[in-house]
Amino acid sequence: MKKLRLFFSLFLALSTVALWAVDKEQYTIIVSLDGFRWDYCDTYDTPFLNAMAAKGVKAVMMPSFPSKTFPNHYTLATGLVPDHHGIIANSFKDRATGKRYSLGNAETRSNPAYYGGDPIWLTAKRQGVTTATVYWVGSDVAIKGDHAHYWHDYQKKPLLTDVERADEVLRLLQMPELERPHFIMCYFEEPDHTGHVAGPITRACRREVEHLDSLLAYMWNRISLLPEAEKINLIVTGDHGMAWTDAERTVPVKPYIKEEWVDAIEGDLPANIYVKQPQFADSIVAALANVDHIRVWRKADIPAYLQYGSNPNVGDVLVLPDMGWLFTDRKVRRGGSHGFDHTAADMHVGFRAMGPAFKVGYEKPDKFANVCIYPLLCHLIGVTPSPCDGSLDSVADMLISGN
Ligand code: AMP
Ligand code: ZN
Ligand code: ZN
Repeated sequence: MKKLRLFFSLFLALSTVALWAVDKEQYTIIVSLDGFRWDYCDTYDTPFLNAMAAKGVKAVMMPSFPSKTFPNHYTLATGLVPDHHGIIANSFKDRATGKRYSLGNAETRSNPAYYGGDPIWLTAKRQGVTTATVYWVGSDVAIKGDHAHYWHDYQKKPLLTDVERADEVLRLLQMPELERPHFIMCYFEEPDHTGHVAGPITRACRREVEHLDSLLAYMWNRISLLPEAEKINLIVTGDHGMAWTDAERTVPVKPYIKEEWVDAIEGDLPANIYVKQPQFADSIVAALANVDHIRVWRKADIPAYLQYGSNPNVGDVLVLPDMGWLFTDRKVRRGGSHGFDHTAADMHVGFRAMGPAFKVGYEKPDKFANVCIYPLLCHLIGVTPSPCDGSLDSVADMLISGN
């Protein structure tokens, strides 16, 4: 009986592997549209992204906390939540050196020491898959001393325009077979930028999202003419959503926090606060405890669902504004922002995928966490993932059996 049970478990395990066995001949392209809120395609006219849903998979993806650009792009690349990969915010204090990591600071931004985990371009390269990145966060940093086979430097200006990026994807796919990447990651700054300036549901944002949709159509129409077209999987997703913010919805900092308590405050959504002496963490929490429209925790008390606080560089105190609010003394203009609680709908991200590995016309019934993208990509390109916080199981329902 025992033997029989063992046989069946072994059979089951093997058949699961066989069920999604990958075809190494396939190609995978992942495009990130920064700030691609989950409902933009319902609000705006996006024939290409709608066609992707009809020919492939449509889903809603949940970012990791905090719902910011750098933390989440690097989560997509590593399958680790920001607390585990180390890019815990767009800016933070490095407690070991006292330096400030920020995306605008070329020295710290390009220091590989901050980038933990195993980004997929390295996982892929080590296992023999030729890979290209077009500006993905972290891909221009010499993480573990290495890069993808082909990569673009975000420091090198002028940056490629969006049409040039689409053309670059095509150029990469037309390289001689032995040099051609089988896996390409491509980043676009929009619609995040317009979402910030104008707000998420505006004529300007409509124009931008619809422009991106035609840009993707342009790219795909040209890809469709390649002899390999039938073997190409295309994923379009992003890093976080976008919510309205307004001049009236700010909580000021100065009336509550004494200067002598604080060493640094990084960010306004959320704010990581680094104190001068440990007891000041209590003073700040007490001062903010009854203030409306924000939540405040000592590092050790951050709720488990945020998966934030084990990293040494997280602030001593975390202040998280409620949806649509900012914790700042700055004068705020009406527009959009992100960084809020990642479980709130406005922060969620659109996801579309089509190609030989994906089901046709499948709408995923449940939201999935963005830590699952790394194992999904590893599966699609046929490499073994490094340990991560996501699982292929959570997204395997999108895949055609045999893929
Ligand atoms: P956020 O403040 O979270 O909206 O950040 C978005 C900004 O990050 C974009 O406007 C880009 O200019 C910037 N960005 C994206 N990728 C990179 C990169 N690889 N290096 C430096 N900055 C980047
Ligand atoms: Zn972003
Ligand atoms: Zn942004």
